[in-house]
Amino acid sequence: MAAQILDGKSLAALVRAGVKARVERLSQRGIRPGLGVILAGDDPASRVYVRNKQRACEETGVHSKLFGFDASVSETQLLQRLEALNSDPAIHGILVQLPLPRHIDAARVLEAVSPAKDIDGFHAANLGALLAGAPRFVPCTPAGVMRLLEHAGVPLAGRRAVVIGRSNIVGKPLALLLLQKDATVTICHSKSVNLGSITREAEILVAAAGRAKLVTADMVKPGACVIDVGVNRGADGKLAGDVDFDAVKAVAGWITPVPGGVGPMTIAMLLENCLHAAENESAT
Ligand code: NAP
Repeated sequence: MAAQILDGKSLAALVRAGVKARVERLSQRGIRPGLGVILAGDDPASRVYVRNKQRACEETGVHSKLFGFDASVSETQLLQRLEALNSDPAIHGILVQLPLPRHIDAARVLEAVSPAKDIDGFHAANLGALLAGAPRFVPCTPAGVMRLLEHAGVPLAGRRAVVIGRSNIVGKPLALLLLQKDATVTICHSKSVNLGSITREAEILVAAAGRAKLVTADMVKPGACVIDVGVNRGADGKLAGDVDFDAVKAVAGWITPVPGGVGPMTIAMLLENCLHAAENESAT
């Protein structure tokens, strides 16, 4: 039987509707959630991501303000902008679009975002809180994956989960979130040997490597839940994930498409985090 498709687009629309209703309630108390976005350089994909995020903000009533910089921007200029955003009461969440130009120390810039406004959850304080099992802002893509799993009722406790990818923004935080839900988690990376023998054990398999068709049908346990985080642009300009979707959907129990799976959930979680930041602020 073909896998059940996990439709991130529909679930994201539901999440956004919930955010919109709560933004309206906050606005009645005179608080409008605000997002400050830093975009440095002229990476076309980054521009598209930022445009989509700002459009989603508009739809839900979140105020967003873009601060665009040339690729030649200095680290000091970015840090000064962040300092201003950190102390701006109209801004509740700050987003630094990655990648930053090569001459900028991205880690130093991300650490300059106030943890209370770090709605991407990339600050060491927020990653540490997640590691300690008391998460505050959770990185949006892993949070979106967990919401998809929860919504579909995929059992996690006691199940074998394999995450391919160990980045600080996807693989590692996602592995921690799966662990918190009592899955038995393995993290794979580019030095893992015989990837297929590991992935075939997985009841939940997440691919977050950025390698088109890395996961083939013979690497998937029948009935497994396969989550494709990867975004790869083919020579034909089309987007593809890390999973050979057509072949794997015949083996898996659940599968996310690309596009329309994890991507829309990432933006929905960003809006939710921005709303939480504004609600936290209003409660203080
Ligand atoms: P990243 O920082 O480049 O990390 C990729 C990870 O995959 C690394 O840990 C790397 O291992 C591992 N890897 C690469 N090739 C591998 C292979 N052949 N076998 C096993 N592991 C391999 O990327 P990222 O930021 O985590 O993003 C991963 C993918 O998700 C990208 O395609 C990105 O575009 C996509 N993404 C999508 C969303 C969304 O909203 N849909 C959001 C964020 C990212 P090493 O550590 O050993 O190098």
